[in-house]
Amino acid sequence: SRNLTRYYDVSRGFMKPHATVKALNGVSFDLRAGQTLAVVGESGCGKSTLARALTLIERPTSGELAIDGVDIVTANTATLKEMRSKVQMVFQNPYGSLNPRKTVGQMLEEPLIINTQLSRDERREKVQAMMKKVGLRPEFVQRYPHMFSGGQRQRIAVARAMMLNPKIIVADEPTSALDVSIQAQILNLFMDLQDETQVGYVFISHNLSVVEHIADQLMVMYLGSAVEFGDKEKIFSRPLHPYTKALLSSTPTIDPAHRTIKIKITGELPSPLNPPSGCTFHKRCPYANSRCSSEVPQLRKVEDRQIACHLVEQINQ
Ligand code: SF4
Ligand code: MG
Repeated sequence: SRNLTRYYDVSRGFMKPHATVKALNGVSFDLRAGQTLAVVGESGCGKSTLARALTLIERPTSGELAIDGVDIVTANTATLKEMRSKVQMVFQNPYGSLNPRKTVGQMLEEPLIINTQLSRDERREKVQAMMKKVGLRPEFVQRYPHMFSGGQRQRIAVARAMMLNPKIIVADEPTSALDVSIQAQILNLFMDLQDETQVGYVFISHNLSVVEHIADQLMVMYLGSAVEFGDKEKIFSRPLHPYTKALLSSTPTIDPAHRTIKIKITGELPSPLNPPSGCTFHKRCPYANSRCSSEVPQLRKVEDRQIACHLVEQINQ
């Protein structure tokens, strides 16, 4: 089988109940084995909320979410616990995410102790093998995080995420805290591991050159909503949503051939706690009309992708 990993209708029901941010309305997607979905948008756009929802930190209260065909919304506690080990997270800051009092060996062995019946020797063997796989010398197994460089620490975090053979890794800006010279190495590590294991990535990033490099699918978010979602190549070569057009045209690293009409995004990013009425982009959108300020555009199929914009056909004809 193709080992299809499905997500769909990740709705705002995944939010903590005390929050009133409409973070994830109407987003739906499939993430296939060996594929990468990149999620882009300005900070505060709901990317991290999406990440939290996907890592099953909380049980979703509504909508639908299935991993490997298992419905997470109705799953019992034991199933949920089992599914959690299939979705792992890699964070932006490898300092903050690694316990400074544990050695690399302890950190990598821990998930095996908790989730498997392997013997001590078998665990140690797996730890050594994983260290090699992520480009760390196995003799560093007794070292503590502070003895490593930023790039090496991120390799440790990736190794830890990989220990239980996850189906999905959610990576939240995993290279943005690193020196530019190191970023490419870590990206390559992600890509090599994906080729080898067919792990699926949800890759959260504001760096469009990273996204262009790594993604298969692309989700553009604005104030907690997906505004454009589809094949990465197609969106990069022909963005349809006004916000995506602005986002891509403001990135100097994008191939000039890919640029379309330049739109300057004016104004501040509104607060997600008090979003503008109608289309949340209307105060910054050069095409906005009266309908845009009163009616929320729903995500709908437009050509080869999904778009939330009332005027997308007129704008792109
Ligand atoms: Fe702009 Fe209106 Fe489309 Fe929103 S719905 S992006 S305001 S044209
Ligand atoms: Mg790939």
